[in-house]
Amino acid sequence: MSEDTYEDFLLRRHREIGALIAQAAGRSGRDASEVRALAVSKTVGFEEVLAAWRAGWRAFGENRPQELVRKLDAAQATPEMAGVRFDMIGNLQKNKINQVLGRATLVHSLSSEHLARAVSARSEARGLTTDVLLETNVSGEASKSGFSPDELRASAERLVGLSGIRVRGLMTMAPAHDATAARRTFSGLRALAEDLRERTGLALDVLSCGMSDDFSIAVEEGSTLVRLGRCVFDQDYRLH
Ligand SMILES: *Cc1c(COP(=O)(O)O)cnc(C)c1O
Repeated sequence: MSEDTYEDFLLRRHREIGALIAQAAGRSGRDASEVRALAVSKTVGFEEVLAAWRAGWRAFGENRPQELVRKLDAAQATPEMAGVRFDMIGNLQKNKINQVLGRATLVHSLSSEHLARAVSARSEARGLTTDVLLETNVSGEASKSGFSPDELRASAERLVGLSGIRVRGLMTMAPAHDATAARRTFSGLRALAEDLRERTGLALDVLSCGMSDDFSIAVEEGSTLVRLGRCVFDQDYRLH
């Protein structure tokens, strides 16, 4: 294995991750086609993004607007990457909103009503409707950002009424190194989405959850969009 080139590694990992997602989906009676995987490229450069594209990755996630724009510009200047997708997955500061509007395919990290209103207003001003997820702090950890479930239930109808955004679903992060807590977080996200579906009449069919350490659990619990960084790009990361 140490003889692997980085390109070989990316290709093998893409296959292994796809197989693990398919197995996890199968265990909960789901079709693997319901699950999309984003390669989170925040720790690598454009060269690695291009190599990952060649290995089969089609959608990428970035947590800083400037990086997203830089890599997306490079990808769009690369004819073989036609159709590439970049999502904004990290904390979005108000003064950076304009950078990602019309560039990010999906903004995963609308973490407050204040931010949702700002993204909506700026989208409207540019004649855009921005696809977004509402970031939810399901686990209740103080270190995590996002709406609390109660807050979300209370503000859902106002949020879906904002005309510059299209709320597609929810996003969360699970506590680290605790499979039981992770499972509870992911199933809680799914239950919350069902509740909000009834309240709003929206499909809310995108559940962004699951990272390198916990994506199999997330897929078992209903994730439709996993966000994978280390397991895609880091040769020292052991898949499990
Ligand atoms: C970095 C990051 C990921 C990917 O994490 P890994 O553990 O490297 O898979 C997913 N989501 C968000 C919001 C991130 O910032």
